[in-house]
Amino acid sequence: MRKHSPIGDEEMLSLPDCRFLNEKGGCERLSFPRCTGEKCTFFSPGEHITDLSGWKSRLSLLSEEEQSRIAKKYYGGKRPWKDGGGDGV
Ligand code: SF4
Repeated sequence: MRKHSPIGDEEMLSLPDCRFLNEKGGCERLSFPRCTGEKCTFFSPGEHITDLSGWKSRLSLLSEEEQSRIAKKYYGGKRPWKDGGGDGV
């Protein structure tokens, strides 16, 4: 059986914002150890069924520059890890 290494914040950000995504980058719906990505036919936006607060806390602890870079690269300048998912700063 193939083992998956721990997922990093950059890889986590590259996964779709699906309600079934867990904090480890796995899928709660299909019981996959790793989300298959944006082409998944089971993708479902909406409220996450698992708590992602740990992941959000880790991103909040990054430097302002790093948070800004990630927000621009993956979220069109928004910061979904902040309360309200604002535009940051
Ligand atoms: S996109 Fe698909 S594989 Fe990924 S978490 Fe959602 S349902 Fe699971």
